[in-house]
Amino acid sequence: MQYIGCHLSSSKGFAAMGKVALSIGANTFQFFTRNPRGGAAREIDPQDAQALVMMQHSGAIGKIVAHAPYTLNPCAREEKTLDFARRTMRDDLHRMELVPGNFYNFHPGSHVGQGTEEGIRKIAETLDASMFEGQTTTVLLETMAGKGTEVGGRFEELRAIIDRTAMQEKLGVCLDTCHVSDAGYDIAGNLEAVLEEFDRVIGLSKLHALHLNDSKNPCGAHKDRHERLGEGYLGMETFYRIVEHPALRGLPMILETPNELPGYAAEIARLRAYDAANANKL
Ligand code: FE
Ligand code: FE
Ligand code: ZN
Repeated sequence: MQYIGCHLSSSKGFAAMGKVALSIGANTFQFFTRNPRGGAAREIDPQDAQALVMMQHSGAIGKIVAHAPYTLNPCAREEKTLDFARRTMRDDLHRMELVPGNFYNFHPGSHVGQGTEEGIRKIAETLDASMFEGQTTTVLLETMAGKGTEVGGRFEELRAIIDRTAMQEKLGVCLDTCHVSDAGYDIAGNLEAVLEEFDRVIGLSKLHALHLNDSKNPCGAHKDRHERLGEGYLGMETFYRIVEHPALRGLPMILETPNELPGYAAEIARLRAYDAANANKL
């Protein structure tokens, strides 16, 4: 089974996101746990959460990906900012237990001049302060473009964070295709080599989700500007290769391309059509 979906607005709740996902041919989705710029989270209605859990039990919707607000910095310099990251992540992870067994993706953050080593140390510390015994959510570190002082542009950095975190069995990686290409991994030119590198450094068993985005910039640009599939430097072929790759089959594949719902529906349909045509050949 292929799980393909896109980022959706969470303003109307879980059941609404599930319905919207199905209406555009998706069977997974991503959403922000709260305003992406941070701030207070809306109260989750347990009945609404339960409606999504039922859609997941029926098999209509696979595992979903919650995305932490991208303004929180888990390796900030200021104690106050670090504390905000810890409290937000901890609160989000507790709320996620209303939809158990899904994913929580976050950006490792920017070391803002403290150095990558110190950044890695602080990120692991923030994770240790946020994750809790018995949580069913798997936390995902997102591969980053390496813009500015971002940590997580190199697979080695993600591996080092995982190594220093206590609850490693509840920690994994979400690979963003635009970000890895921008970081200098030639996913368009040689997907196989990038996956081999990922496997060697982190281990493919740690790869739990993908963000499918084309990039407005060439490999190694360190920019992080998403483009629609096939309209950027990665090209449609890259996404077809990803969809048909046996090691990636079954992972939630989330579009974060500049699109409204009809554009997402079209991209999902294109990927599914390719996958179906390909399956017939086997
Ligand atoms: Fe992200
Ligand atoms: Fe992403
Ligand atoms: Zn991005």
